[in-house]
Amino acid sequence: MRARTVKVTPLRQNCTVLEKLETGRAVVVDPGGDVPELLRQLDGLTVDAILLTHGHFDHVGGADSLRSALNRRQKTPVCLIGPDERDAFLLNSVTLQAEAFGLFDLHDAHPDQFVVDGEVLDLPEIRFEVAHCPGHTPGHVVYISREDKLAIVGDTLFRGVVGRTDFAYGDHEGLIAGIKRTLLSLPDDFVVLPGHGLPTTIGEERQNNPFLI
Ligand SMILES: [Zn+2]
Repeated sequence: MRARTVKVTPLRQNCTVLEKLETGRAVVVDPGGDVPELLRQLDGLTVDAILLTHGHFDHVGGADSLRSALNRRQKTPVCLIGPDERDAFLLNSVTLQAEAFGLFDLHDAHPDQFVVDGEVLDLPEIRFEVAHCPGHTPGHVVYISREDKLAIVGDTLFRGVVGRTDFAYGDHEGLIAGIKRTLLSLPDDFVVLPGHGLPTTIGEERQNNPFLI
């Protein structure tokens, strides 16, 4: 699968598009907004699934709209999957979260299915292992493809830092423990795609991330 990033919302969240060029099939992770632009980027592709890492508005605010638009234009229905159910309270308050940032075109998200730790998602072109990695939010998950040596990590781990935990529901110690369990257990050459900023690798973060040493 080829991965590319589309920056969405004024927070420049990394929506990841994974596409298989040979078959024209794709998976979209964290479509936070800017649905018309995402639809342009997905033109000609059949999207099998939309995955969500956690319930913050900049990651999920476009999910319901994108699912509806894709279901109108492609033959096979797209499934909206994740995060862990413990983020349901966030998925149900997207409108309020976004309005606090002065954004009024983002919407609550209603997944077709939540995911749980250890679950395997066998999508047509890619197999993801789901790992629960709470702390930034209670229901945050990361998606790991061993075949593609790829981890899509939302707002848990970034290049040189970790996700913020200064929310009423945040848990810094829990986040560090979760990153060590779910991500630092992977080989050094796995690519890490975070929800903001540049990609990194497990090896680079293992060696240089001051929060993990
Ligand atoms: Zn977040």
